[in-house]
Amino acid sequence: MDIPSTKLNNGVEMPLLGLGVYAPNHHTEVQQAIEWALEAGCRLIDTAAAYGNEREVGDAVRASGIPRSDIFITTKVWNDDQGYNRTLRAFNRSLERLRLDTIDLYLIHWPVKQFRHETWKALEKIYRDGRARAIGLSNHYPAHIDELLTEAEIKPAVNQIEFSPYCYLPDVVNYCRAKSIQLQGYAPLVRGLKRTEPRLMALSEKYSKSTYQMLVRWSMQHGVVTIPKSVHRDRIYENFDILNFSISEEDMAEMDTYYDNTRIADDPRTIP
Ligand code: NDP
Repeated sequence: MDIPSTKLNNGVEMPLLGLGVYAPNHHTEVQQAIEWALEAGCRLIDTAAAYGNEREVGDAVRASGIPRSDIFITTKVWNDDQGYNRTLRAFNRSLERLRLDTIDLYLIHWPVKQFRHETWKALEKIYRDGRARAIGLSNHYPAHIDELLTEAEIKPAVNQIEFSPYCYLPDVVNYCRAKSIQLQGYAPLVRGLKRTEPRLMALSEKYSKSTYQMLVRWSMQHGVVTIPKSVHRDRIYENFDILNFSISEEDMAEMDTYYDNTRIADDPRTIP
């Protein structure tokens, strides 16, 4: 079954489900995981300069034999590289490591207040030069975006934030939707922290799906691009096997109430 996609505000199509590749133990794991994910139908890979595995991502994509244009690759500029010239240089280094001419989506990994506008200007140049098909943000919340938009000439196409029922903020979802910024959710599985949470387990039994599958499906049904990470073949297949069922409106509404602000990363609204 084909993975559905969403159309970004510049018309580019982005798959709603992909593979995250943060922090595998060693680099051969990344290549192997991507190979299995592509085999399972995945066409979106989420990496970052900070993950130290762009080279392996590029190698895995080339080795797959799947046309480059069929695979959506995201990477991100790290905090130390923010600023106009530094970001342009960091982007060039990412392309060199990936050994690609263009990437599909380039993101600012975290908001860094003093470089906000300069870094975004660099992304706008990269986009105008046709070297990234879309540009966007990560870990940005409405206050950060409002400030960025005071000077931005190109609207961000995507904002990648932590997204699971346990840190679900409807106001942020509505804000991004109103601004035509596609939300992408990271750590959709809460890194397994909620795998035995009783309410989630009860629902997973009702649907005869794993708690992991319920979380991936919940994200997707919110129209949020989701990128569960695994380096195990059976788990990758499990996480991608979520297209043959849907969670009822009532149960989606129940999952929407699970909020307890469990996060695997710092809350970008409160860190300096
Ligand atoms: P996830 O919520 O995706 O959880 C990944 C963990 O869950 C891994 O330990 C994995 O183990 C385990 N797991 C995956 N599937 C299963 C399964 N079916 N059964 C049991 N265990 C499973 O966390 P991540 O932090 O990795 O988030 C996903 C992606 O989001 C990252 O890889 C990265 O691409 C992105 N990200 C972006 C951030 C940002 O700041 N923009 C921050 C954090 C993540 P194993 O691999 O051993 O199977």
